[in-house]
This record gives sequence, structure tokens and C-alpha cells, in this order.
Amino acid sequence: MHLYVVFGQTAPNPVISTMKYFKEEYRQHVLDKKCKTGECKALADIQIDPEKCRGCGMCKRNCPVEAISGEVKQPHVIDKAKCIKCGTCISVCPFKAIS
Ligand code: SF4
Ligand code: SF4
Repeated sequence: MHLYVVFGQTAPNPVISTMKYFKEEYRQHVLDKKCKTGECKALADIQIDPEKCRGCGMCKRNCPVEAISGEVKQPHVIDKAKCIKCGTCISVCPFKAIS
């Protein structure tokens, strides 16, 4: 019982320390939903590079939520409001136009 109490009091310390020293990073992740380093894949914006896109439609056909639009042979675009960041489009694009 005594051991439990000790752990119970000290366990949050590492978290509190990082909140103290990385306050701005916490704020960006929690409030702005952004990761400036790009390391947090769940928060990263997935974009199509219009210079590399050939308009093949492969990404559009494979997107599970129909978040990609575009005409054949024209640069396609991702609707960020619909995108669930599954990464499928990145893996199917034959021209590596999505990152
Ligand atoms: S990441 Fe997934 S949901 Fe978002 S545009 Fe690509 S395929 Fe669609
Ligand atoms: S799969 Fe790649 S090249 Fe084809 S439309 Fe999508 S982004 Fe453009």
C-alpha cells in the first residue's frame, strides 16, 4: 500500500516536467493540432505536389473517403476536411507526388 502511494505521487513527474520545459510544443499539438517538426504523422498535412502530379487518378480511385478530386491529366487536390490521413494515396501514387 505504501509503495502504491509513493508511485502514485511520483508517476506524473516526468509528464509535468516535459509540460514545463516544452510548453510551446504541447500548446501547438493540443490546441493548434500542428507538429512543426513533421514527426507526428497523425498531425501532418498530406499534400499533392502539382508539379509532380500527372493526373493519373490512382490516388483518387483508392482514397477510402473520396477526399481527392481532379480531372484526368490535371493536378489533383486533397480536401483536408475529408482526409483521414490513412496514407493510402502516398503509397499508390506512381509518381511520388504525394507527401
Ligand atoms: S491520406 Fe487517405 S484519406 Fe487522405 S487523401 Fe490520402 S487516401 Fe484519402
Ligand atoms: S496518383 Fe499521384 S500522379 Fe496520380 S493523380 Fe494522384 S497525385 Fe497525381
